[in-house]
Amino acid sequence: KYTIGILGMQGATAEHANHLHHLGHDAILIKNKEQLEDVDGLIIPGGESTSIWHLMKQNNLIEAVQSFAQLKKPIFGTCAGLVLLATDEPGMEDPVKLGLMDIQVTRNGFGRQKDSFEAALDVKDMTTSYPAVFIRAPYIETAGEDVAILATYDDKIVAAREGNLLAAAFHPELTDDNRFLELFLSMVEEQSVSAVS
Ligand code: GLN
Repeated sequence: KYTIGILGMQGATAEHANHLHHLGHDAILIKNKEQLEDVDGLIIPGGESTSIWHLMKQNNLIEAVQSFAQLKKPIFGTCAGLVLLATDEPGMEDPVKLGLMDIQVTRNGFGRQKDSFEAALDVKDMTTSYPAVFIRAPYIETAGEDVAILATYDDKIVAAREGNLLAAAFHPELTDDNRFLELFLSMVEEQSVSAVS
């Protein structure tokens, strides 16, 4: 049983907590950096990435989340959370990204007609398709060589992993299919095993 933090600045937090409880884990809504010391992993939910960024800044959570990642603790960014895990184009003066994953993203990448939609994705290591709910979703434009691509849609990368970091362009908390959450929890387990050994 693990304690998972859900970044509680803005956005879709409650459904993530429900799924964690359903799988027998504890969830804490993270509002300040002290709370990060109590969690085994962190979910950065969907919402509006610029708002989440500014609220993180006001609450001194930017460096705190970066340090959390440097400790190799797992982070799962979904939708706006994926945007925040990414790295800005070089030369950007006022960063609005945590710069943790070696990916560059296009926000709202699927255009207006496809504001929100569901798609059956073929995902690496999943034997049946995964029902992904996309809402004004970003996609991953470029990924560094250490990034494992887990799924694409319309030839665009929509799920990826780099070490302790997992990113999904869709909203895994809006389906009862918990395979992405379970993948994240397996990363938390791997990390807690390697931390004691
Ligand atoms: N379009 C939003 C953003 O870039 C993300 C949307 C979402 O999280 N559902 O911040």
